[in-house]
Amino acid sequence: MLEFAHGYPTMLFDRLTFAEVLLKHLKGSDQLVKTNKKVTNITTRKDGVTVDFADGTSEQGSIVVGADGVWSTVRDFIREKAPPGLFSQGPNPFSAPYQGLFFRVPRPESLKPGQTVYVHQPHKQLMALVTATEAHMTTYERIPDVSERSYFSPNKVTDEDVKYWFDIPVNEKITFKDLWDNKVMGGRVNHDEGVIPWWHWDRLVLVGDSVHKVEQPMSPFRGAGACCGIEGVISLVNKLNRTIGSNPDPSRQDLSRAFTAYQAERESAARLWVHVSRLDIDLYTSETGPASKAATFADGRTISIVANSPVLDILPFHDEKEGVVPWRRHPKANRKSKDVKARL
Ligand SMILES: Cc1cc2nc3c(=O)[nH]c(=O)nc-3n(C[C@H](O)[C@H](O)[C@H](O)COP(=O)(O)OP(=O)(O)OC[C@H]3O[C@@H](n4cnc5c(N)ncnc54)[C@H](O)[C@@H]3O)c2cc1C
Repeated sequence: MLEFAHGYPTMLFDRLTFAEVLLKHLKGSDQLVKTNKKVTNITTRKDGVTVDFADGTSEQGSIVVGADGVWSTVRDFIREKAPPGLFSQGPNPFSAPYQGLFFRVPRPESLKPGQTVYVHQPHKQLMALVTATEAHMTTYERIPDVSERSYFSPNKVTDEDVKYWFDIPVNEKITFKDLWDNKVMGGRVNHDEGVIPWWHWDRLVLVGDSVHKVEQPMSPFRGAGACCGIEGVISLVNKLNRTIGSNPDPSRQDLSRAFTAYQAERESAARLWVHVSRLDIDLYTSETGPASKAATFADGRTISIVANSPVLDILPFHDEKEGVVPWRRHPKANRKSKDVKARL
C-alpha cells in the first residue's frame, strides 16, 4: 500500500546500520560526535547552555536537543525548570496498555528472509520479522494500563514466565517454544504510548521518543516510532535554519519561536500516529479474531500525514518518486537550484 500511495516501499534496516551510514558521511564526525557520555547536569544562561557529563567533562553550546529516549534526562531538567503543573509529576508521562516480549533468534530454515508472520491470540499477538540471519520476535499482550518506568532487561524472563506461549505454532513446522529455546537475547517491556504537551523550555528542546511514544515501538504493519522522530528532527532543523538565517546569534525569544513552530508542525501528526497505531493493535488483538479489514481502513488515516511529511529545506532532492497521493512538500533547495539553472 505504501508504494502504491507514495511511490516508495517499506524498507527494513537496523538502527546500527542507519547510524553508521550517517556517521560515515558526516564531515569531522570524530570531533563532532562524542560517545559514551552520560548527561548529569544542564545549566541554562541568557546566552547559552552548559552540559555536564558523568566523566567530569562539560560542553558549552547555544541549545540542548534532547534526543535521549523515552526516559529522557533532558525532559527531567525541563520539568524541573518549568512552572509546576505543566508536566506530569509521576515517573512516566506515558502509559502502557500493552506489554510484550522481544527476542532474537537465529533464522530457522522454515522462516524466509523478508517474511513477516503474525499469530493472533485473543488480547495478544505475536509478530516475527525475518532478516537474512535472524528472526526478531515481538509480542503484544493487553494489560491494565500502567504508568511506570519499565526497562528492557534482556535475559531475565524465565521459561515459566512465558510458557503460556509455548505451544502456539508460528508456522506448520515450528512453535513459539522452538524459537524461544534458541534465542540469543530476549526480555519483556511495557509498550508505552502518548504525546507530552510541552516539547521545549528555555534553550532546551526535545525530539523523538522523549516527546512521543507511538504504541509499541511499532504497530503490526508500520514502524512509526523512529520515523516520527526523524520527521521531528527534520522539522526542527528547518525552523532553526530559518531562525539562524535571519539572526546568526538568536535570542531566547527567537529560539522559543522556532521551537514553538516545530511543535506546532509535528504535534498533531504524532498524536494521529499514536491513535492509529493503538487502534491497529486493539483491532489485531480483539477477542473475536484479527479485524484486519477495519485496521486497513484505520491505516488509511495516515496517508495524508505521510504525504505532508516534512522534508529538509536545505537539501535539493530531484529524483523524487510519487505514488497516487502527491507529496505536499518539496525541498526549498529544489526551487533554488532550478532558479540557478534558469539564470545560467
Ligand atoms: C524492539 C523494538 C522495535 C522497534 N521497531 C521499530 C520499527 O520497526 N520502526 C520504527 O520506526 N521504530 C521502531 N522502534 C521504535 C524506535 O526504536 C524508537 O522510536 C526510536 O529508537 C526512538 O529514537 P530516539 O532517538 O528518540 O530514542 P532512543 O533510540 O531511545 O535513543 C536515546 C539515546 O539517548 C541516550 N541517553 C539516554 N539518557 C542519556 C543521558 N543521560 N546521557 C547521554 N545519553 C543518554 C540513550 O543511551 C540512547 O542512545 C522499535 C523499538 C523497539 C524497542
